[in-house]
Amino acid sequence: MQSLPIFFNIAHRRCVVIGGGDVALRKVGMLLKAQGNVTVVSPDLHNDLQVLFAEGKINHTAQTFAASQLQGACLVIAATDDHQVNKAVSEAAKAAHIPVNVVDAPELCTFTMGSVIDRSPVVIAVSSEGNAPVLARYIRTKIETMLPAAYGRIAAIAGEFREAVKAKFPTTQARRIFWEGVLQDPMVERVLAGQEQAAREMLAGLIESADAAKKQGEVYLVGGGPGDPDLLTFRALRLMQQCDVCVYDKLVSPEVMALVRRDAEMVYVGKARDQHTMPQEEINELLARLALEGKRVLRLKGGDPFIFGRGGEEIETLMAHGVPFQVVPGITAANGVSSYAGIPLTHRDYAQACLFITGHLRDGGLNKEPVLDLDWQAMARPKQTVVIYMGLVGLAQICEQLIAHGVSSDMPAAVVQQGTTQHQRVITATLADLAEKVQAAELKPPSLIIVGEVVKLRETLNWFTPSSESAG
Ligand code: SAH
Repeated sequence: MQSLPIFFNIAHRRCVVIGGGDVALRKVGMLLKAQGNVTVVSPDLHNDLQVLFAEGKINHTAQTFAASQLQGACLVIAATDDHQVNKAVSEAAKAAHIPVNVVDAPELCTFTMGSVIDRSPVVIAVSSEGNAPVLARYIRTKIETMLPAAYGRIAAIAGEFREAVKAKFPTTQARRIFWEGVLQDPMVERVLAGQEQAAREMLAGLIESADAAKKQGEVYLVGGGPGDPDLLTFRALRLMQQCDVCVYDKLVSPEVMALVRRDAEMVYVGKARDQHTMPQEEINELLARLALEGKRVLRLKGGDPFIFGRGGEEIETLMAHGVPFQVVPGITAANGVSSYAGIPLTHRDYAQACLFITGHLRDGGLNKEPVLDLDWQAMARPKQTVVIYMGLVGLAQICEQLIAHGVSSDMPAAVVQQGTTQHQRVITATLADLAEKVQAAELKPPSLIIVGEVVKLRETLNWFTPSSESAG
């Protein structure tokens, strides 16, 4: 983010617009909407500006620009078609520490204005920080169509009841939970249908009957998918945006994390290989404790919570404590990663089955090397695809063992790092040279191993180019 989005109160304060053409007219319109006290500085005025002046809605200084005109201004907009003048305005405003916007010249601005969706008192502004105003306007139109005009009226009615809600619910958390409930209540439909008085009565009833002392926590065990935030489910996103606390581990991508409610409390419980920040038993207990405190706890996991995710253990503990919970499946790495790598796991010409295996090394006991304790015979069967999670450290052993159990050393195999994300890297090889190639390429976790004839389909089906690759 290169600038801070703020909503600036200019009501009844002096705003100066330099320039009197149609660009100036648009800016003046926006300033008047926000109740600014607008002065237009320009020898000539656009017809519509003349009308506004005649109606007493704006002031007019019929002069060319001089720095003295900025005195007492809370903001300045330069909208002339003369670059020199615009530049002089920018310099004078900066010298006087007055926020300045120069139309179409981001380098001369200290502030820019977004594309505005006005549902007063709800106001949304979309900015592309000057990079793509057309995109910002396009996004604005999309949002416009999503938000019924009556949303502004909902906000206004909520405003009327703010004090009553404050009096009833002592904590911000309790108030937030109440308001979120209101937004899902039929009361909203009444407002949208134009029956505002009925809506007011319903809202008053909700406040009256709400039990301020009630504290029912819950745990949402949510699969955050393999990395690309577009792969989240609608339910995952909704719960991510209404939690009070988020307990997450390393596997969840930063792009997915960015969608968790901003002011939720964040608890990191680690899980990088060999440095489990918090033992699983403690995580289980933590989830139960937070929910018993009345919080809505988001347990956010990479991929799917029930695929090598220990989600089962977590909900067993919740069951034991009588804590309500729900489980939201996510796209597991095998699914997401293979799709984005152009490898159809069960292409009918090559595979009739697909195995998901954990390649996590087990502790071999005192003074012994960690071991891979896998069912090699089952993994070596023909006409199947084998997907190995957590197998990067044991990769060389895995390839050797598969060959030792009868798989051809020419069998195509791939390792995909950070699949589905803009950092995705894919190495394809044969079982014989995969480990060596992966080591040379310095692939890092999270990485998934795929072994089977289907891997060769990537040659023709590879469709996804991450930006890290296209950039370099
Ligand atoms: N519950 C998760 C898996 C957790 S085990 C799921 O359903 O996907 C962690 C392993 O998942 C990693 O070691 C790696 O093998 C795999 N993995 C998860 N996300 C991945 C990604 N984006 N790219 C490659 N492998 C991934």
